[in-house]
Formats: sequence, C-alpha cells, structure tokens
Amino acid sequence: MNINKNYENLEQSYLFSTIAKKVNEYIKNHPDKKVIRLGIGDVTLPLCKVVVDALHKAVDEMGVQETFRGYGPEQGYDFLREAVQKYYKTHHVELDLDEIFISDGAKSDLGNILDLFDKDNIVLVPDPVYPVYVDTNVMAGRKVVFANANGENEFLPMPDKNIKADIIYICSPNNPTGAVYNKEQLKVWIDYAKNNNAIILFDSAYECFISDEDLPRSIYEIDGAKDCAIEFCSLSKTAGFTGTRCGYTIVPKNLDKLNKMWLRRQTTKFNGVPYIIQRGAEAVFSEVGQKEIKQNINYYKENAKLISETLKKCNIWHVGGKHSPYIWLKCPNNMKSWEFFDYLLENAQVVGTPGAGFGQNGEGYFRLTSFGSKENTKEAMERFEKLFN
Ligand SMILES: *Cc1c(COP(=O)(O)O)cnc(C)c1O
Repeated sequence: MNINKNYENLEQSYLFSTIAKKVNEYIKNHPDKKVIRLGIGDVTLPLCKVVVDALHKAVDEMGVQETFRGYGPEQGYDFLREAVQKYYKTHHVELDLDEIFISDGAKSDLGNILDLFDKDNIVLVPDPVYPVYVDTNVMAGRKVVFANANGENEFLPMPDKNIKADIIYICSPNNPTGAVYNKEQLKVWIDYAKNNNAIILFDSAYECFISDEDLPRSIYEIDGAKDCAIEFCSLSKTAGFTGTRCGYTIVPKNLDKLNKMWLRRQTTKFNGVPYIIQRGAEAVFSEVGQKEIKQNINYYKENAKLISETLKKCNIWHVGGKHSPYIWLKCPNNMKSWEFFDYLLENAQVVGTPGAGFGQNGEGYFRLTSFGSKENTKEAMERFEKLFN
C-alpha cells in the first residue's frame, strides 16, 4: 500500500486555532472585559418558520407506510430541481432540469468536481482565497498558480494573458474579501476561458447578498458562460443551511461531456440528499420562504452596512460590506494582519480574522463579518470609532 503523498504537500492551517488560543488567553487574563467576535464565518440566525414546518411534515411522511421513501434520485428530486429552475428564471437564466444537480453543499461538490479533470491541468485561484480551492487540488497533485487580488484592483483580479490556466476558480461575492465582479468583468473572464479552452468553477455561495439588479447573481447571466462554466451554490448562507446541508451545482449541457460525466460520477459515488432536507430546501424557494429568508439576509446586511459606514468615518480603506456579509479592510497605520489582530483585541476587545491567513496578498488586511448580533456589531463599531476616529 502506498499512501497519497500529495497530502504531505498540504499546508497546515493554524488560523482559527491560533485565534481561539489568543482570545481564550485574553479572556483568562481580563475576565471583566466583554470580548465581541466579528470573525464569525457561520450564519447565526435560525431556520425560518416555513422551512421548519416543511421539515416536520417530511419527517411525518417518512413514518407512514404510504408516504415512506427510500433511495431517491442521486441528482435530487424533481420538486426541488424545478424550484431551483424557477429561481434561476427570476435572474433571467433558463436551465434544463438535467443541468441541475442537488448536493449536500457547495464545499463537497467543489472538491468532488475535480474527479472530472486530469491531474495535469493548471489551476488558477485568486489570492487571497477560500482555502478549499487550493487544498482539494493539492490533494490531487495539481499545480496551482495564483491571480493577485490586491488594493490596486480592489481585490477583483482580471485574467493575465501570459498565464495559461485550465481550471479557473471565481468566487463572487467573494469570501474572504466581499468584493463582487460586475457583468463586464465576468465577460472578460469568460472570453479568457473560452480562448484557453479552460473551465470556470464559479462559486456563487453568497449570491443572495447581492441587492443591485445590475450585478450578476449567476455567471449564466453573461453570454457564453454556459460554454465554459460550472456554477456551485448552496442554501448555507442563503437560508441558514450550514448545519442542515443542501446545495446545487449547475453543469450546462453545452459542456456535453462534463454534464454526462458528472451524472455518472454522482450516480456512482453519491446517493442523494435526504428527502426530508430536500423538502426543507424546497420551502426556501416558495414565496413565503423567499420573504422570510430576506429578513435574515437583511439583518446581516444592516450589520455589514454599519461596519462599512463606521470604517468610512474612520478613513479605513475597505472593500465588501455592501453585497456581502464580509468586510475586508486595510489595517490602519500599515500594521500587519496579526499585529492588528492583537491591537484590536487589546484595545477594543474586538475579534476579527487576519487577512494573512487567506494567502500572501492578505497580509496587511483584516476580515470582519456581519454574522454577529446587531447589538454586538453596534457596540464593536462604537469602540472602533473611539479608537480610530
Ligand atoms: C460558506 C461557503 C460555501 C458553502 O459551503 P457549503 O458546503 O454549502 O456549506 C461555499 N463557498 C464559499 C466560499 C463559502 O464561504
């Protein structure tokens, strides 16, 4: 037996364990201080009522002979695929049902999709980056090159004609930076991909945070995308499904081979998302469901707006915070990411995430999130104003 040696090339990430260690140490030494966490990378509001009702109903169905269900279709029940199809139509994107694959979340599919690609492909990921894109490719022994996101391009890197990539990752609205591509910028990426015979893996996990009609919520809103892009989305951030688990992946039939291969891959290695969960997901796409989740998303967006407005008052450069739960700021006084982390904890008792943990270009930057409570976000921003304004 020989192990997959590529695992030895993975970089250990101590980001969140180091943060936890530093925060616990601080609390131990300052038991009287109230520490506010604005580094939360998970939703905090509960599932909405219409979803909970649908889940209960589905559980009851499973306990009755007449409505019990065993294995379902690997690619998802039609009722949910039809709901996803209708949802895309509201963004003016037409999809066939067999282009929609229901999954247990975007993270697994973003990793699993790599089954379809040869080891020798060159992978282009932005820096800073959601670590899953890099690590899944390192595990497979693929070469990863980086597209530089930085202050100059407002953390929206554009293609470099001198770099020939085969697999391109784009996340918009972006985690960790909150930056969002417009249609013209995505069109440039699509043209680049088509010229290189490359595939774009488009992560739209945060599309529901976009409130500007002109900004694309799906890459398929742009001409040509169906010839070169696979889209990954999930209900995790949209509807608080991070613990409930349901997502969807779109593999257009224009990518004939890939659509068939993905179906073959899923029917071989995956047995579908639980019926109960798919009924809960269906409820998200109902009229009432859309209304209820919007309230939760707006709650986070209000927090993001408050953070962004406070940073503006303090003259702290940042992106995100408008169509995203993330705010990516340049550390004041040219502090390094971890230096700023310590400074903020010590002087404002506010916890965020050092940008350096997301890639080389993250050094000197810092991520705040809007997933905390309104009260805590407000208090944290008052402390910011005292410290920096
Ligand atoms: C949260 C998140 C996802 C969603 O992952 P799930 O597996 O669906 O929970 C996908 N991509 C990014 C960049 C994320 O931050």
